[in-house]
Amino acid sequence: MKIPFVDLKAQFESLKDELAKALETAVSSFSFIGGNDVSRFEEEFANALGLRHCISVGSGTDALFIALRCSGVQSGNEVIVPAFTWISSSEAISLCGAKPVFADVDPQTYTISAAEIEKRITARTRAVLIVHLYGHCADMSAIENVCHKHKLLLLEDCAQAHLTTCNGKYAGTFGEAAAFSFYPTKNLGAYGDAGCIVTDNGDLADRMRRFANHGQLQRGDHLIEGINSRLDTLQAAVLRVKLPHLERWNSARAQHAKLYASLLAGLPTVQTPAVRRGCAHTYHIYAIRASRRDELRQYLRENGIETIIHYPSALPFLPAYQHLRHTARDFPVSYQLQAEMLSLPVYPELTDMQISYVCEKIRTFYQK
Ligand SMILES: *Cc1c(COP(=O)(O)O)cnc(C)c1O
Repeated sequence: MKIPFVDLKAQFESLKDELAKALETAVSSFSFIGGNDVSRFEEEFANALGLRHCISVGSGTDALFIALRCSGVQSGNEVIVPAFTWISSSEAISLCGAKPVFADVDPQTYTISAAEIEKRITARTRAVLIVHLYGHCADMSAIENVCHKHKLLLLEDCAQAHLTTCNGKYAGTFGEAAAFSFYPTKNLGAYGDAGCIVTDNGDLADRMRRFANHGQLQRGDHLIEGINSRLDTLQAAVLRVKLPHLERWNSARAQHAKLYASLLAGLPTVQTPAVRRGCAHTYHIYAIRASRRDELRQYLRENGIETIIHYPSALPFLPAYQHLRHTARDFPVSYQLQAEMLSLPVYPELTDMQISYVCEKIRTFYQK
């Protein structure tokens, strides 16, 4: 059996006709930047989260940068960010001229720990950028308390958390603003780079929209200098076709996770993902903690099963952050995770038979 890590073709096949029609309508409007599909998608995505504003931009990384920058993060500021995440989260902070300050993550949910955030606060701390890693909400009530107590701006990286909930609230509705990515393999993915920022703050929404489009809100008004970060009309058309299916795809992922958990139960060498009470995991990534991870990965590969490591190095240990001179002792959990995490296929179209096969191979590996 061959099991790819993701299968974008399967999803495409199920939406082929709808996509063809939407793309043809978009192309024949000959407005390739902005236009009806872009403004409608912004409305539809904001509505899905119950928020007032959605500003579509060129990528998730741009969304993070624009949110931080337009919230006033600047040179001289420190922003606390998890040590274990994708590099966009910290890149966006540096792009503002501010300093990323890494905090270790929780060993159960792999999301940034409130206690670790509090330890890293200094007089220069301006904001906390939390990441709902893999599709599980960070511990928002504890983090909201820390931010409130120390008067810190709270921003969210929701690139892996489309319609993820915690205590009845969507990821993206906790902070001042939240960034989403629609990179093709995310739970909601475009056919190229795409992203957005959501917020309930109208002034901030205006500033972000202006900054993302060369400093203009009305054509030619250029109150400030900005950048060019916009969502293509064609990408918006794709996203509009896909958005109504997102909830169903997330449920399929959750079903797969349930089956994985039951078939891997009792294996002392494997830790399946934990879900905090009140949270609904949306499994952008289904990552297990596995002993002899690299050997297991090789064994699965030999048996036709493709896996990925999210992430082979925690951010503080990357060459890009060598100048911060961190050691394993600064982030013991992240240090451990980089050697143990292994992401298994969890795309919605995966079948129960495929999942059984993966689990059977994992069990066989540990019996060897
Ligand atoms: C994918 C991702 C991003 C960046 O999104 P792009 O659209 O690829 O720029 C940011 N943060 C996290 C945690 C991600 O997984």
